[in-house]
Amino acid sequence: MRKLLIAFTAALLSSPAWPDTLIDNANGIQASPSAQIEHFTGLLIGNDGKVVRILHAGDARPKAATVIDAHGQTLLPGLIDAHGHVTDLGFSALHLNLVGTSSLEDLKARLRTYAAAHPDVPWIIGFGWNQELWPEKRFPTAADLDAAVPDRPVVLERVDGHAVVANSAAIKAAGVTSATAAPAGGRIENGLFVDAARGLIDKAIPAPTTADLDQALAKAQEILLGFGVTGVGSMSTSVADWETFRRAGESGRLNVRLMAYLLGTESMRAVPHPTDWMYGDRLRAVGIKFFADGALGSRGAWLKQPYADKPDTRGLQFHSDAEILKLTDQAAAAGFQIATHAIGDAANAQIISTYEQLHRKYPGDRRWRIEHFQIVDPADIPRLAPAGIIASMQPTHQTSDRLMAEARLGPNRLAGAYAWQTVLKSGAKLAFGTDFPVESPNPFPGLSAAISRQDINGQPTGGWIPSERLTLGQALHAYTRGSAYGGFAEQKIGSLKPGKWADFIMIDRDPTKAEAQSLARTQVLETWVAGKKVFSRAVSASPPERGK
Ligand SMILES: [Zn+2]
Repeated sequence: MRKLLIAFTAALLSSPAWPDTLIDNANGIQASPSAQIEHFTGLLIGNDGKVVRILHAGDARPKAATVIDAHGQTLLPGLIDAHGHVTDLGFSALHLNLVGTSSLEDLKARLRTYAAAHPDVPWIIGFGWNQELWPEKRFPTAADLDAAVPDRPVVLERVDGHAVVANSAAIKAAGVTSATAAPAGGRIENGLFVDAARGLIDKAIPAPTTADLDQALAKAQEILLGFGVTGVGSMSTSVADWETFRRAGESGRLNVRLMAYLLGTESMRAVPHPTDWMYGDRLRAVGIKFFADGALGSRGAWLKQPYADKPDTRGLQFHSDAEILKLTDQAAAAGFQIATHAIGDAANAQIISTYEQLHRKYPGDRRWRIEHFQIVDPADIPRLAPAGIIASMQPTHQTSDRLMAEARLGPNRLAGAYAWQTVLKSGAKLAFGTDFPVESPNPFPGLSAAISRQDINGQPTGGWIPSERLTLGQALHAYTRGSAYGGFAEQKIGSLKPGKWADFIMIDRDPTKAEAQSLARTQVLETWVAGKKVFSRAVSASPPERGK
């Protein structure tokens, strides 16, 4: 028997069917399990799209059918965004884009231009305004929108997705009148519909067609792969989104790996239990997403103490303690992972208590997730690790929101805000992402913010609460291994290791040598998924540098 085995192994070794591809002369970098930086120079990829070997300088090079010389270019594992909204990203690129509008006048001008360019679009949908960036700092109103487009419905979503402003035509189409009361957990204000009140307008917007959804998913994948994102925790996945992912998987159009978190227990009617991985590990329903509160920008985040800049409110509590326990328990009993949005310190405390109870009831490896974990009472952070709670956080929220957070909370309540290093020191696990399209899905500004607590322009000098900075190894770990672990996918993705998928990217600079501001400007040259190149940056048309 033993002799037979040896003979069989020898036959295999002498087989001319060499592993397909060797990427050689790479400046390979990845995070180790303990969040140190690991270097390697070659990657051997099997015909099945999985890593066969990681090669270091000095290792003998095995034979391969294809050898690709990386010419010293930097190679990283594909980055995994633990929290993004996939079809929303596609739609945000296809709809009116209002990200970065500099004033209310600028918003109106872009709205007029879009309306003129799209005369046949029955409802104008836009996304991305943020009144905090405008000199007037006030929310837009229905009257503001009417001044630009009076003749058809317009609905424009705030950058955080927690409020929409509608024009009079949209409000009328939705059947909302001055007598309409805002539902619990919502607010209506001159055409602004906040949190739960959004539903009043949203239900009137014609649902996207199957073709619209397919187009949005294709667009989203194109954007993600261009930024080196090969995996996503697909948050708030609707049943229609899920069906769109399935269609793409069935027809081989899924390149980004999606760990789907369906929205609320109502999704369980269509997807009653977590699924296995499908389509070569490209899609899996893993969890159910819940919301504990709103967002800080619209003062919907639920705080323990009143807002510093609006002392008559503590934000919006979405569920009673009993209600959120019942909902999450229902999903946990069906085997789902639970991911709950919590921004304010009161919401985070409520969800930690909820998870502590679920953890006693379901003591296995359940990886309870809190999405955002933005404003947290420092006393609550040590409660994460004992209950197996993962903090799923977005480093660019810190750089985008710090001035607003200071205004909303005042100077003395920020000790547990965006507290990445404190989370890690407490022994809890961290998963990084962007919450795209709230932020750009580009992971590099996030990695840069994580190590510097500074924005892409180096602000503020010295970093905001710099004690919360991470090392590059920790940041890369949270963006690869951490986000894979967060989606129960660490056996398949998150690092380049024999048996895992060969999902990797080639980039234009070495993050171990780049300053934070340069790291933020990293460009992805190539993106590979399962050993196949799925994105390649068009060669620059600029003239070669002198001396080359
Ligand atoms: Zn989100």
